[in-house]
Amino acid sequence: MKILEERIRQEGLVLPGNVLKVNQFLNHQIDPDLMLDIGKEFVKLFGEQKITKILTVESSGIAPAIMTGLLLHVPVLFARKQKSSTMPNELYSAKVYSYTKKIENTITVESKFLPASDHVLIIDDFLANGEAVNGLLKICQQANAQVVGVGIAIEKSFQAGAKRITDQGIHLESLAKIASFADNQVHFVGENYN
Ligand code: 5GP
Repeated sequence: MKILEERIRQEGLVLPGNVLKVNQFLNHQIDPDLMLDIGKEFVKLFGEQKITKILTVESSGIAPAIMTGLLLHVPVLFARKQKSSTMPNELYSAKVYSYTKKIENTITVESKFLPASDHVLIIDDFLANGEAVNGLLKICQQANAQVVGVGIAIEKSFQAGAKRITDQGIHLESLAKIASFADNQVHFVGENYN
């Protein structure tokens, strides 16, 4: 997705540990027009399939997820990283090691919001080692819900996550694919660089 790549090139900052900071438009301040374009792209890629729910994880997945849900007119469910005191005990949960925070979170969703009849599109902001998506897939398994696919805004293709998902036979679409951060620059898949 060209406009997303351009924004990453213009505003992204490569941090130590292969972390891309995109706080200008995605992870802190959010550009709603760009999020809407991202939602439209996911609708183009997955919209032909039956989707009854969008599933993401708080907090940065919510913005692209909600735009996709808005366009498809389906609810957006986000897994929480901390159990809320207002949540009852009927939960689906999975352990997820956080790439950026280097801690393990237990992500949870209330089971009543994910019935077995759901056809789920998983959306997240970044794909690195696939921990977050794998946690969401485990939650869908617990619910016996069908996973339609996984849509990612920014995939770091040099890390293990993409293979981990596609090896399970899951339809993965990523809108910007990063091949490397060589010389602290963002290099996209398919681009020539030396
Ligand atoms: P994974 O679970 O695939 O290892 O990592 C994906 C999760 O970690 C995403 O939900 C995202 O919040 C965070 N993440 C991973 N890599 C990056 C990165 O380079 N930049 C930012 N801002 N977040 C990242």
